Amino acid sequence: MEKICVAVRVRPSVSTESFNGAYWNVEDNRISLHRLHGTPISGLSYAFDHVFDESSTNSRVYELLTKDIIHAAVEGFNGTAFAYGQTSSGKTFTMNGSETDPGIIHRAVKDIFEKIQMISDREFLIRVSYMEIYNEEINDLFAVENQKLQIHESLERGIFVAGLREEIVNNAEQVLKLIELGEVNRHFGETNMNVRSSRSHTIFRMVIESKRKDTNSSGDYSSVDAIRVSVLNLVDLAGSERIAKTGAGGVRLKEGKYINKSLMVLGNVINKLSEGAKQRGHIPYRDSKLTRILQPALGGNAKTSIICTLAPEEVHIEETKGTLQFASRAK
Ligand code: ADP
Ligand code: MG
Repeated sequence: MEKICVAVRVRPSVSTESFNGAYWNVEDNRISLHRLHGTPISGLSYAFDHVFDESSTNSRVYELLTKDIIHAAVEGFNGTAFAYGQTSSGKTFTMNGSETDPGIIHRAVKDIFEKIQMISDREFLIRVSYMEIYNEEINDLFAVENQKLQIHESLERGIFVAGLREEIVNNAEQVLKLIELGEVNRHFGETNMNVRSSRSHTIFRMVIESKRKDTNSSGDYSSVDAIRVSVLNLVDLAGSERIAKTGAGGVRLKEGKYINKSLMVLGNVINKLSEGAKQRGHIPYRDSKLTRILQPALGGNAKTSIICTLAPEEVHIEETKGTLQFASRAK
């Protein structure tokens, strides 16, 4: 079992009005919280594999947290990278990035195509898909007409989302164009009052299949690694804030319940996985669509990383505590 790599990232303050100074302190791979005014909070200090402060770039996050997963995926290992945190803490910035500092998805795509170019003895076939899980319903971000898709399982294909569009891709530019289209679909029908993208999980998936080029004349593919298939998931989770804070009823409340449940299940699954194989017992993958879809790329030989993003304004300190608790359960 591979260890799950857990990191925390504090975003810079984006609005100066609400920022009165740091309520956290970062030292190497440790983050500690304190109140700006009044009594210090003792005992709120956590160490992780990496802690990224507000000055860190997506480039650095990619290097330290994700690159190994991407390279292993090219070698045939499944992998999953998550961004977890409250809305506006920097999950999408980390995954999608900006013009000047592309995010993890962009970097992963580029890196994969660069890597496979260098492997001359194998032929690669790459497929991508992009989906969202909103209120426990799976929608295709490459094809808006594909809504409420179902999860199936077969001997041949394992666990899969039936009807999900998969595009065969040949270069990074093609993938990045598709992602742009997916982003438009993700925000379809969204208004400021209804920011659905923060209420849904999105999974960008690459399936990397490779075959050894037949070097001997007999055309013998008997070697165990003659054909490799790996699945890589890059996941931007729904905002982890508790529903009470948004003070909502109706639709908001329903969304919040689904989000809380699926993030709780994710936490339970990851917590089980991070315990030793002996203690582990039953892993509740089936308790949510998210964990069910990710099951083949979570646990076993799969490589997993989680980046937990934090907002720097002191008003968010309670959510930050919740996020750090989630993060420390994953270690
Ligand atoms: P989330 O996806 O968690 O809701 P976002 O990624 O949309 O949050 O971030 C909220 C805002 O903060 C956005 O305007 C985003 O561009 C900005 N932001 C987040 N992280 C960073 C960062 N590391 N550097 C600069 N701006 C950031
Ligand atoms: Mg977001």
